[in-house]
Amino acid sequence: MRQLIEMKLKSKSVKDITNGYPLLSKEALENPEVTMEEGSILHLVDTNNRYVATGYYGLQNKGIGWVLTRKEKEKIDTKFFAKKMSEAVAKRANLYEADDTTAFRVFNGEGDGIGGLIIDYYDGFYMVSWYSEGIYSFRDDIYQALNEVVNVRGLYEKLRFNTNGQYLEQDDYVSGEKGEFPLIVLENGMKYAVDLNDGAMTGIFLDQRNVRKALRDHYSKGKTVLNTFSYTGAFSVAAVLGGATETTSVDLAKRSLPKTIEQFAVNGIDYEAQDIKVMNVFDYFRYAARHDLKFDVVVLDPPSFARTKKMTFSTAKDYPKLLKDTLKITNDGGIIVASTNNASFNMKKFKTFIDKAFTDTNKSYRVLEEYQLPEDFTVPHNFPEFNYLKVVIIKVMN
Ligand code: SAH
Repeated sequence: MRQLIEMKLKSKSVKDITNGYPLLSKEALENPEVTMEEGSILHLVDTNNRYVATGYYGLQNKGIGWVLTRKEKEKIDTKFFAKKMSEAVAKRANLYEADDTTAFRVFNGEGDGIGGLIIDYYDGFYMVSWYSEGIYSFRDDIYQALNEVVNVRGLYEKLRFNTNGQYLEQDDYVSGEKGEFPLIVLENGMKYAVDLNDGAMTGIFLDQRNVRKALRDHYSKGKTVLNTFSYTGAFSVAAVLGGATETTSVDLAKRSLPKTIEQFAVNGIDYEAQDIKVMNVFDYFRYAARHDLKFDVVVLDPPSFARTKKMTFSTAKDYPKLLKDTLKITNDGGIIVASTNNASFNMKKFKTFIDKAFTDTNKSYRVLEEYQLPEDFTVPHNFPEFNYLKVVIIKVMN
């Protein structure tokens, strides 16, 4: 039987939660020392024991659980999950109907009312990511709900708990049709090869859809494009399809080479005409400077943290330095697509990093466009801190 626990909230948290804040932190509780089982239902009350909300206990690095409803009578059962899912699916009606896009996010955790649960769509296949043992304890109900609401061609899942949000190596297949990988999905008419059963990542980060489109449609024609931290080269594909004269993709991971070749190949691009470098981006900056290489467009999309034998990098600390290195190999009048998914700072802060880099190098710039999460990556109303993606497209003046 699932545990049902009454928990008293501190008054500040009562206010936040009443306003729709979905995350439960340890600090929100009057008695955080009470032991709870993963998946316990939490009946949250104020200091006068009045009902505030219902949540569940599930440890993530972010917090200890999530609010599920503020209606006292609402039960957390298959019907509840099916309702959340059909609301989420209805919001993505345009994407379901689009012929030129077949990969997108269907359910974005707290933004769709269930923190810790992410569901992505890849051409009829569904990929479910579980972020805590607590939410995973609802697995049967959630899969039943999903199958009631949509037509699932095949189901895959990733367990991202017990290992600090890292991925647990396993067979990700759950039920339905087994995919033949690579599966080719479409995004605004571009093809991307994905594999739903090959480690933590699928080959594409769906949250950059609008940025890839912008790069293709507005910034690539006749340009040389450098794609740093390129992973499978998704931005490079967009650049070539947008008419780039040449792309250079740089990533440290050995697998990025065959994966990038594959992304070019499925789009009918001659990959031998493109440059793909397996190397540390920071070494590449030195290499490029030594060879007097300069680019018209540079894409910067580093991981929030990176560690190599020689160095550690954190976007929160080192972004200005990364931009300064980039400026040395960007043509005057060129474009920098500066991106970060680090949730620990906001857009305003990110722009101060950009400003610092330009001020330190005595260069001026213009912000041409800004992007955050696309519409299928729903975030809770009034809480922009859940909108972790920040992309600024910058024109380098001289
Ligand atoms: N921009 C990519 C996603 C980047 S994921 C896209 O849009 O698809 C981060 C990538 O950075 C990973 O592929 C990782 O291998 C790479 N990486 C991490 N540290 C690096 C470094 N120091 N030099 C080059 N690549 C690095």
